[in-house]
Amino acid sequence: MLTEILAQVSREALQGEGLEAVLQGIVDCLVRRLPVAIASIILLSDDGAQFTQEVWAGVLDLDTPIGASMNAPWPVSVGAAGRCARTGEPQLILAVEKDPDYVPGNTAVRSEYLVPIHHHDRRLGVLNVESTRTDFFTGEACGVFDAVAAQIAGAIHLARVVGELELANRKLHQLSMSDGLTGIANRRCFDQQLAQDWQRLAHANQPLALALVDADCFKALNDARGHLYGDECLRELARLCTQAAIGDGDLVARFGGEELVLLLPGRGLRPARDLAERLRRSVEKHAMAHPASPVSDCVTVSIGVSALYPALSQAPEYLVAVADRALYAAKARGRNCVVGRGVRMPR
Ligand code: GH3
Ligand code: MG
Ligand code: MG
Repeated sequence: MLTEILAQVSREALQGEGLEAVLQGIVDCLVRRLPVAIASIILLSDDGAQFTQEVWAGVLDLDTPIGASMNAPWPVSVGAAGRCARTGEPQLILAVEKDPDYVPGNTAVRSEYLVPIHHHDRRLGVLNVESTRTDFFTGEACGVFDAVAAQIAGAIHLARVVGELELANRKLHQLSMSDGLTGIANRRCFDQQLAQDWQRLAHANQPLALALVDADCFKALNDARGHLYGDECLRELARLCTQAAIGDGDLVARFGGEELVLLLPGRGLRPARDLAERLRRSVEKHAMAHPASPVSDCVTVSIGVSALYPALSQAPEYLVAVADRALYAAKARGRNCVVGRGVRMPR
């Protein structure tokens, strides 16, 4: 019978969806199959100072001290479970009325066995089993609960590793998609978004616009004021671009070097050019000193704008190439200006 229970706990521990469901499956199984009035798994905070969560099954009197405080975190200085967590040793209580630390959860309970749940040196929690009998916790039964606690430790450890991996993956993904200097999206993110928007808007038969923003005479600025000042100006430019691109689905990215890009889904040439002009003026108004520019005494940008109706027969890079030509024209026109190019695409 005990071996069978161990086998069933193994199955539950390995097959549940999520940690809480796994733990619930285990305590349910203990209460269902054994003369156990209450079975619970009490999880510890990372520093081991508090119990943070209890998953339980059985019959609990809600007007007992335990029943009333089930959900609140409580310190390990309290109760027989706290003693188990503090000492890291199993606690066999053959007569609960004689134990000064026993906190009643069910008045019919006569004996209790508490097992620490730990993975290597890390204390994870306590398995608590309470019985209405006085002769239930034999050496053999306690051995089974020790093994169940080891299974639980494996399940908790696995869930934590999975959680930590998921978090690390999310962070890595975010890092791989953002630019270290400015904090905005990087080129990889831009390329992916462009390809996605291109497909989506081709199907929806809606326009897509792009503004390529290039800081004027930036090499001269670095030479005159140093790269750190240049970096600071780039961060400010990124912030102003982000302020300008407020449309649903707009993306601001660092295209490379001192070039930033705004991807503007749903926008035709005129609204995109107007937006670029507002951005150009906001950069000018921001008045970041540029002592070496032949254009102005502060940092300015030239912007090439392109807009078209995407076609699946054409590569999305075409939109960038058109904006690049427009940017070149803006530079040739004397810098600190916006040039737009619309294109009719084959259907
Ligand atoms: P133009 O008006 O024709 O765009 O002139 P420019 O000097 O801006 O263009 P050019 O392509 O000759 O030089 C770009 C400069 O941008 C050179 C490079 O040192 C600077 N740059 C690129 N990336 C960074 C960066 O991350 N930080 C700083 N401070 N400067 C950068
Ligand atoms: Mg450039
Ligand atoms: Mg430049």
